[in-house]
Amino acid sequence: MRRIRIALRCVTVVIFSLPMLAGLVVAQDAPGVNASVPPAPHAKEIHLKHILVISQTKGWEHDSIPDGMVAIYEMGRDSGLWDATLRTDTELVTKKELGRNGKNLDYFDALVFLSTTGELDLDDGQKKDMMAFIKDDGKGFVGVHAALDTNYKWPEYAEMIGGWFDQHPWSTFNAPIINEEPSFPAVSHFPKAFVKYDEIYQPKEWSREKVNVLLSLDPAKLDYANNPRIHRTDHDFAVAWNKMYGKGRVFYSSFGHTQEAWSDPDIRKMYFEAIKWVLGMTEGSTAAHARPGDAR
Ligand SMILES: [Zn+2]
Repeated sequence: MRRIRIALRCVTVVIFSLPMLAGLVVAQDAPGVNASVPPAPHAKEIHLKHILVISQTKGWEHDSIPDGMVAIYEMGRDSGLWDATLRTDTELVTKKELGRNGKNLDYFDALVFLSTTGELDLDDGQKKDMMAFIKDDGKGFVGVHAALDTNYKWPEYAEMIGGWFDQHPWSTFNAPIINEEPSFPAVSHFPKAFVKYDEIYQPKEWSREKVNVLLSLDPAKLDYANNPRIHRTDHDFAVAWNKMYGKGRVFYSSFGHTQEAWSDPDIRKMYFEAIKWVLGMTEGSTAAHARPGDAR
């Protein structure tokens, strides 16, 4: 009787296994039949870099923040080069374990401050972790527009990004721009001289000796009359620059004030190439240079 039961069980196992076996045979005999089935998530994302975009605002809130966030997300998705985590808080700017599937800085390859303003919610530990992420880990940082109007009570932030905002003397205008580094990947698509409608910042605590100026306002084409917001007596208004901070690559540009800027192919390409550069996917000089006029 016991033998019969065992035999019955064996029959049951075989019967229930047959459809699965048949399935395996079909799959092996006809590779590509199931090509419409997406690959496993890990296979799809294995080459992706991870970008953390922070847009916390404690001061002015730019209407263009969602446009910029979507643009950076789309650039990564369409190129297959990165995925982007979009946040308006600073919880992830830490190396502490967050739990709840929360990703911390160790997960990310680059940090983008997208029109952040004012004193962000960063305690001393978060500030230390963020600087270590760039300086020691060699991860990237991209500052967009109001990233310069941020963290005035944190001097190391200005040292890292290159300075702080000090007014936008001409508000949003047809800015006459000089391309100072046409060989640099993020600006190589711009002509030697061009005009862009945007709000260009005047930096303070800033020196071209500490950064590599990529784009600047053409001082010969600016209107200085009756403008008390102009503070730089050298009339040196950089629009984009790059630099090293320790082992990490840093890029900043004041382009991106308007919502329209984010549908401008030139501006999108600049930030796309800037992110690629801070990720180490392309190469470009970080050496400071004299003003174009001074070199003549
Ligand atoms: Zn602005």
